[in-house]
Amino acid sequence: MTDSFRRHSGFAAAFSTAAANGELVYARCARCARTLGYRARVCTCGHRGVVWDRASGGARLLSYAVYHQAYGDDRPLPHTVAQVELDEGPRLVALLNADAGALQPGAALRLQLDPQGHLVAHRAEPSADH
Ligand SMILES: [Zn+2]
Repeated sequence: MTDSFRRHSGFAAAFSTAAANGELVYARCARCARTLGYRARVCTCGHRGVVWDRASGGARLLSYAVYHQAYGDDRPLPHTVAQVELDEGPRLVALLNADAGALQPGAALRLQLDPQGHLVAHRAEPSADH
């Protein structure tokens, strides 16, 4: 996702700058603090100002696809691409570093940016307090 997002969105400069520093960020309205989707240009309150906050890294699996054909990158095949929803609400596409067949929709994931700036989702470990 991040490659396409960078190419097609001038809005992405703040996201890309943070990602280059290993930080996953998401946008909120500067006036009402509502969380905005990554492609939002204006809040439902009508305000165009945005602030960027660091995401927790927690997410849920929405869907995935296994790629057996390369599409312009050098990732090993096959690889799995997942649509995820951040705990903060926005949705992103990430590489899935887990056995997708063992995950149910809604499975807890942890997101990280790899050194190349790709967003990678891992299966979240159960918390120790259960
Ligand atoms: Zn707003």
